[in-house]
Amino acid sequence: MSSSSTPSMEELIKLDREDPLNWTRDEFEIPNIKACGGEGDGEAIYFCGNSLGLLNKKARKHMIEELDVWGSSSVTGHFSHPHSRPWKHVDRPLTPHLAKLVGAKESEVAHSSTLTSNLHNLFTSFYKPTDKKWKIVIEKGSFPSDWYAIHSHPKLHDAILSQEQIDDAIIGLEPREGEDTLRTEDIIKVLEDNKDTIAIVWLPLVQYYTGQLFDIASLSPKVHSIGALFGLDMAHGIGNVECKLNEWNVDFAVWCTYKYLNAGPAAIGGYYIKEGLDDGGKRLAGWWGNDAATRFQMLPEFRPTPGAKGYQHSCTPVFSSIPLLATLELIDKVGFDNMLNKSKRLTGTLEDLLKSSRYYNPPKGKIGFKLLTPTLPDRGTQLSISILPENKGIMPRIFSRLASNGLVGDERHPNVIRLSPVVLYNKFEEVGKAFKILEDALLEEEQGGHITEVKDNDMVSKD
Ligand SMILES: *Cc1c(COP(=O)(O)O)cnc(C)c1O
Repeated sequence: MSSSSTPSMEELIKLDREDPLNWTRDEFEIPNIKACGGEGDGEAIYFCGNSLGLLNKKARKHMIEELDVWGSSSVTGHFSHPHSRPWKHVDRPLTPHLAKLVGAKESEVAHSSTLTSNLHNLFTSFYKPTDKKWKIVIEKGSFPSDWYAIHSHPKLHDAILSQEQIDDAIIGLEPREGEDTLRTEDIIKVLEDNKDTIAIVWLPLVQYYTGQLFDIASLSPKVHSIGALFGLDMAHGIGNVECKLNEWNVDFAVWCTYKYLNAGPAAIGGYYIKEGLDDGGKRLAGWWGNDAATRFQMLPEFRPTPGAKGYQHSCTPVFSSIPLLATLELIDKVGFDNMLNKSKRLTGTLEDLLKSSRYYNPPKGKIGFKLLTPTLPDRGTQLSISILPENKGIMPRIFSRLASNGLVGDERHPNVIRLSPVVLYNKFEEVGKAFKILEDALLEEEQGGHITEVKDNDMVSKD
């Protein structure tokens, strides 16, 4: 898009004024520039909801109510609760919202623990390697926790798998040379080439680093045609893009709730198990997976709740579950389709502005940036900006200029800055301001002439 067709600040302000969802920002507490490490007063431009969502004011209210119940009623709060949220079943009001949001039946979803632990839980039950079929497909660039967790599972089966098979168990997907994201056709080729040995395919719905949205609907039949199970990490997908787990025929999935669902730091995770996948048998059991009707009878025999909830272990943590309800109720009120619509326009505006910049795709060796994130329909809210030239140590300087000007994104060494304008609390006007801050930061870098002073081997180390 040429710069003449990109919107002016006045036009962006007008878009906010006419936006039917503009009221939802008021539901959130917007961080302050200074508290976020910037200079000056006022509200920060918070484009970091992909990492930690903002505090919903209702979540604050509910949390204080819970503390009051604890203070005044203590143990009786498990059963009798002045706000109709007895702790014994604190996840019950969450389930219907959640099921709707991920496109699944209520019996197929549960809240428990945290993402990586849930991943381990589901792999313990559903990774059933045999001498012939034992391999797991995962992207080489996957989030490290997934990478570590998945590598650990073949090792637990050393009674069945040889050391050679364990060493050979992980098939790592990589983009083509010179490309940043994976092509569906290339993933399918890997599946076909290894069709007899793959047991599980594990992918993210939205890739944390590049922001790529995977084409799950196209991949799922291919995964099943080779007799493998399809598992999804929805950490960056839930609350961000459409999730249709039943329709896509995904076998199992996990997610966290502190990113686009604003449930607070390290809040409770969730998972999905497709109906019928539960074989009633092998699992890591705990009392919270026992049928709720007999749970408190403390019987020696474990009677699992049918479906996903039968895989829970411990009583549900109240303080990390309650904040989630506020955003799930808000999403329900707003309508997720309306959110998606706005999300496409909001991030689309940032994308158009970035592509209109004179710093976009600069000539080799010159200061600028490229976008790692594909365009619609292959993305959600997040745009991943790769600062160029690569590996010259420029990105951290750009990033700190963004921060001091009140733009909160996040950095991934060595080159990437991730920005996510979030529908529920960000404005079109902020998109315009964020773009200006980024362009100014690049200009300062260009004028500072840092580029010629830095040698090739001064690589920024990975943290
Ligand atoms: C955020 C994220 C996690 C975090 O895992 P926790 O167990 O919640 O700490 C894991 N995987 C992916 C892909 C993520 O984006």
